[in-house]
Amino acid sequence: AVPLKVCIIGSGNWGSAIARIIGNNAQRLQRFSSTVKMWVFEESINGKKLTDIINTEHENVKYLPGYKLPENVVAVPELQDAAKDADLLVFVVPHQFIRKLCDEMVGCVPKTACGITLIKGIDEGPQGLRLISDIIREKMGIDVSVLMGANIANEVAAEKFCETTIGSKVMENGLLFKELLQTPNFRITVVSDADTVELCGALKNIVAVGAGFCDGLRCGDNTKAASCGVADLITTCYGGRNRRVAEAFATTGKSIEELEKEMLNGQKLQGPATSAEVYHILKQKGLVDKFPLFTAVYQICFEGKPVQEMISCLQSHPEHM
Ligand code: NAD
Ligand code: 13P
Ligand code: CA
Repeated sequence: AVPLKVCIIGSGNWGSAIARIIGNNAQRLQRFSSTVKMWVFEESINGKKLTDIINTEHENVKYLPGYKLPENVVAVPELQDAAKDADLLVFVVPHQFIRKLCDEMVGCVPKTACGITLIKGIDEGPQGLRLISDIIREKMGIDVSVLMGANIANEVAAEKFCETTIGSKVMENGLLFKELLQTPNFRITVVSDADTVELCGALKNIVAVGAGFCDGLRCGDNTKAASCGVADLITTCYGGRNRRVAEAFATTGKSIEELEKEMLNGQKLQGPATSAEVYHILKQKGLVDKFPLFTAVYQICFEGKPVQEMISCLQSHPEHM
């Protein structure tokens, strides 16, 4: 059989970490073509193009400094060039950019291709919540799996052991992506309930922002754990960017936008935007009162509610009344 061509759409912190895994596996395995294209949102770094830096130094010096990318991963600045003959597409961009990118790719990807999204976030449609995978599926007419887990990019790049879940409506495709993505230290379970996997991955980012507020307010561990769940949720509440920036928000009084710029060097938070999308949907469905944490995070991030009021918002949780 002809080896399958892989294209990675995105090259941020997580995109670059996953490119290390994909590059190595594609080189090693017969089933995949060794050359892996990676679409890079072009930017200039000290007068040099990021794509040129990646293709000569084999390092994404801005988004994953300190880790080499395999030489068979080739950075491509034109989206259509990167995607046009791909059999397998790996979507890994901040969720706010996905619609526009899909629109740009329409028509250039064959319907026989299949995709996987590593994007944590949701979207809003006229009927309410839309999954990012649904947007990709609909705009490109391809099958889309999802991959979500407690997978902080720098730790994955450092090859520290972790687990993750692929959710796939077509099991065969999920297993194919497992072959492409699994390593001894990146262990994958494939399940069929893709929508739940994706939703958990998206919503945990809002909880992470709440956890950061708790830390910034110097609340106790009990307080912080009151909003915690499992795996990704726990990891994100200790190690993630959403939590870190939210803590700084509570201690400095600067805006989320300002802190994101100052602290993340171009990396993007998903939690605040997700809280807004979820809030609009809850409001439309008359469910705001049932989700006090999600609502409080939204109001603190976007409506100027003082962060000090977060705990009082949680005190009126419907489960406690
Ligand atoms: P990131 O946060 O590093 O974001 C920066 C990326 O966004 C860069 O590649 C930049 O070029 C790109 N970008 C900036 N402006 C753009 C534009 N106008 N159009 C398109 N791209 C633009 O990205 P990331 O860490 O790779 O995150 C991607 C997704 O993966 C997110 O949904 C995130 O929640 C998820 N995720 C991240 C991690 C992590 O630890 N970083 C782990 C698991 C999942
Ligand atoms: P942050 O975006 O908050 O860093 O979380 C990364 C992540 O999703 C870990 O699984
Ligand atoms: Ca190969």
